[in-house]
Amino acid sequence: MLQLYQPLNFMGMVYRDIKQAIVDIEAMFAILGQNPEIDDLPGAQALRVTAGDVRFEDVEFAYDSERPILRGISFEARPGQTIALVGPSGAGKSTISRLLFRFYEPTGGRILIDGQDIRQVTQTSLRAAIGMVPQDTVLFNDSILYNIRYGREGASDADVDTAAENAQIDAFIRSLPHGYDAAVGERGLKLSGGEKQRVAIARTMLKAPPILVLDEATSALDTFTEREIQSALERVSRGRTTIVIAHRLSTVVDADEILVLDKGVIVERGTHDALIERGGVYAALWSRQREADAAEETLQRAGYRD
Ligand code: ADP
Ligand code: MG
Repeated sequence: MLQLYQPLNFMGMVYRDIKQAIVDIEAMFAILGQNPEIDDLPGAQALRVTAGDVRFEDVEFAYDSERPILRGISFEARPGQTIALVGPSGAGKSTISRLLFRFYEPTGGRILIDGQDIRQVTQTSLRAAIGMVPQDTVLFNDSILYNIRYGREGASDADVDTAAENAQIDAFIRSLPHGYDAAVGERGLKLSGGEKQRVAIARTMLKAPPILVLDEATSALDTFTEREIQSALERVSRGRTTIVIAHRLSTVVDADEILVLDKGVIVERGTHDALIERGGVYAALWSRQREADAAEETLQRAGYRD
């Protein structure tokens, strides 16, 4: 951990300067584990997760005061439910997950977990309760074993292996020349986007948090990898309150509620069937994606894709 914490202090100091230059803010927060600009309130207590209820109440947010990003977001993810966020790029989906992590504070409204305003609790306890599987996982320059065990330090080898199995990355790991000891990251093996995401899923399975935030992979993955990841994500979210940022509508069909976000506003909400029935934005997105999928399948069959 030492080699990790020293660069972190350094990053804290230059954070304000580099923040604009960082493209993948999740990647930076994942490394930092926090936003150095946010402090715990004096006397902040640890979050007590009793059931895993997540509530956004009229949440407003702007990265800079000129441009509102979220405008009056309200929803509730009850214990064990899955809430899906869909909508065009830039709509504010990832921002919602950053606020739940308290990487930023809402400029209006509040966010509650089991009735406790997340502003009032310690950041350490908040982040211990939430597992995040980001779109692009940052791997440490260390063994694959270290990278998975990071989810729960002190986890046994057997637990790490079970997590890898559930994340469907175990066969891949065994195929590596040094197996679990294989070095990964910048200075080791470069893993594909799908492999990195499955490492993140394994990590999260070890952590076993009551609340999950999943940022699904984009279409950059081939259909086979995508299906594998999908089933791994389904396993990890079972029995946990889950907020999934869905790029593929096929993965939200079973969500308890789908929120369609556009320009920081929830423009439609409901179950898949209700939204299809309604024939609005979601229904249009759905039919467009079906057409794209059909075209992709035709290309694959004709041998233009692997
Ligand atoms: P989505 O995940 O739906 O694609 P985001 O929540 O990432 O959208 O972004 C919502 C809006 O906020 C976008 O217009 C984006 O440009 C802007 N934005 C995202 N991150 C930052 C940031 N760190 N600073 C300023 N603006 C940002
Ligand atoms: Mg996003």
